[in-house]
Amino acid sequence: MSKESRKFQVPDGLANLYDFANTLDLRHFTHHGIQHRQADELQDPVALGEWMRWHGLIKHVAAPSQKTFEAALQLRDAIRDYLKCEPAERYRRLIVTTALNTAMEPFALRVAAIGKHGFALRPMPTDAEAGLSGIVAELYDAASAGTLDRLKMCAADECQRVFFDHSRPGTRRWCQSTLCGNREKTRTYRQRHRDDTASQI
Ligand SMILES: [Zn+2]
Repeated sequence: MSKESRKFQVPDGLANLYDFANTLDLRHFTHHGIQHRQADELQDPVALGEWMRWHGLIKHVAAPSQKTFEAALQLRDAIRDYLKCEPAERYRRLIVTTALNTAMEPFALRVAAIGKHGFALRPMPTDAEAGLSGIVAELYDAASAGTLDRLKMCAADECQRVFFDHSRPGTRRWCQSTLCGNREKTRTYRQRHRDDTASQI
């Protein structure tokens, strides 16, 4: 769980999934005159290992292999593509779900009895892949709990931040309506105004 997930009150059950999807920051808008810089927290296997340890997904020190690192990036891309679809459309998008299935394949899980809380999915491997299996388990648990539909990607092209929709109807499209929503509405208004002016000439 990160400062960011706490700030936006992302439920604990999918906080690592939220943070993992947002390790790729594609935001490139200007806010208060400052251009946001795009960044990727997962630059190499060492960075991935540190990220997983920081999030409590693994305990050991060795960096993941290059193969695991590449599989992690593939998993992140597939999760982001999935979250980019409207919740009602997700299961219909065969290309997206097939890519996600392929990306999840290396990260095995097992079912474990955990006392009074019943059963839980636990990572099968013991090495660095376990951390990524933990992300896949959150995906499954969130889908079962119905909270995955509220994990979405901001509809603004210059943002694409993954956010948790706390609105009552669950129909929010932007991570922050006051920023991304307003920017898009202003752009649509300007475009319409330009079109109207052009048609009058
Ligand atoms: Zn946004």
